[in-house]
Amino acid sequence: MSNYDYDLFVIGAGSGGVRAGRLAARLGKRVAVAEESRPGGTCVVRGCVPKKLLVYGSQYGEAIKSSGEYGWSVKDVSFDWTSLRGNVQEEVSRLSGIYGTMLERSGVTVFSDRAEFVDAHTLKLQISGREVTAETILIAVGGRPWVPDIRGAEHAVVSDDAFLLENLPEKILIIGGGYIASEFAGIFAGMGVKTVQAYRGERLLRGFDPDVRECVGRHQMLAGIDVRFNISPTEISKSSGEYTVTFGDRCKITTDLVFMATGRRPHTAGLGLDRAGVDVDENGAVAVDAYSRTSAGHIYAIGDVTDRVNLTPVAIREGMAFVETVFGKNRIAYDHSNIPSAVFTQPPVGVVGLTEPEARQKHGDDITVYTTKFRPMKNILAHKEQQCLMKLITLGEDETVIGIHLVGDDTPEIIQALGICIKGGLTKADFDSTCAVHPTSAEEIVTLKSAD
Ligand code: NDP
Repeated sequence: MSNYDYDLFVIGAGSGGVRAGRLAARLGKRVAVAEESRPGGTCVVRGCVPKKLLVYGSQYGEAIKSSGEYGWSVKDVSFDWTSLRGNVQEEVSRLSGIYGTMLERSGVTVFSDRAEFVDAHTLKLQISGREVTAETILIAVGGRPWVPDIRGAEHAVVSDDAFLLENLPEKILIIGGGYIASEFAGIFAGMGVKTVQAYRGERLLRGFDPDVRECVGRHQMLAGIDVRFNISPTEISKSSGEYTVTFGDRCKITTDLVFMATGRRPHTAGLGLDRAGVDVDENGAVAVDAYSRTSAGHIYAIGDVTDRVNLTPVAIREGMAFVETVFGKNRIAYDHSNIPSAVFTQPPVGVVGLTEPEARQKHGDDITVYTTKFRPMKNILAHKEQQCLMKLITLGEDETVIGIHLVGDDTPEIIQALGICIKGGLTKADFDSTCAVHPTSAEEIVTLKSAD
């Protein structure tokens, strides 16, 4: 046994840190975890989980409206934000409690405290003042919302605040065109808030396939969201309970609440990484190799703090690979290619693999693109304009599928299974030889025809 207090000390009890801590403890290691907030991290406490519950909550209004065409007559409909907020927070507390309990049941020592480096093997717990040592240290502190440094930025809320709003505003201005801005625009619009989404670019969701970006932008507008492109905020001012956001000399928008969804940054400030010899990049992200190892050989980092692919399941996989590499029998570098993911706009997005521009850049004309757009059966009867987009990209003569891009109801569920097909290297012929499930939207993916 080493002379250190612990074999492994994990900083941060988010999804990645908890998984790594539990697995190492299961291998008989002496493990401690420090968490300054509540166990569960961004995903459970102020991210994926409460966000998805708000998405569900925001969809009932539209469902009730459409239900008339399906024979329902619904009277006296109203929405109570405080009730939804309370129920969501109750669920967050339940899940966070489970995370804490799982750690303790695995034999992990949990410190409800902030840990900062004293030196390469020593951490100081900030509330208790206690110093602990560890042979191996895992940094899993995640990220936090970032806002641009403009005058009046302090007047804006960020995603952390959005879950806890005292009251629902009548009007909201959401700044940003990424995941969080686009998802929350759908949530607020669904709850009846007059929503403006202001984005500095020409199409939402930079980095996604252009057809997906166009489709999501169109559906945001169909959902009543006033999407403004090519504007970037320069100042926020407050007067008589209202906020005015100035966008250079382009325009001003007055609203009840300004929500900045302008990105997230690694939460490394004040950790004392320099005292431990851990290098960070210009955004504060911990620099790691393929095995999540930092410049200090015995210190590792996983999840959003490394700013690789900032998704919960990726942090978990990186945590598992770290434990296997350091305490197990195999060195495992987690493969970050072909990660399926979803954006919970309304309708949502499900994607895996290369976008068309990425595929063209990598493979030139050696690709074939199949696209279809249709109104799902449910929307036809409900007289809703919402469409479904399905796009499949193949490579070479054998037509190996290298990219799938979907927009439409249930596409996050569909893309999980399609991710297996891409990982498995399946071809268009494999898709075509699979019998359709009828009547579904998903069946279109096995009946796609080329445009020519
Ligand atoms: P994103 O990086 O997705 O979006 C940030 C947005 O803010 C972009 O549209 C960006 O514009 C814009 N922006 C950045 N700086 C400025 C500025 N100075 N002025 C005006 N606009 C600006 O970040 P999010 O915060 O939405 O999400 C963070 C990460 O969290 C995501 O990348 C994703 O990894 C993860 N996430 C995943 C979810 C999911 O899986 N469903 C849900 C939520 C978050 P531009 O595009 O021009 O850079």
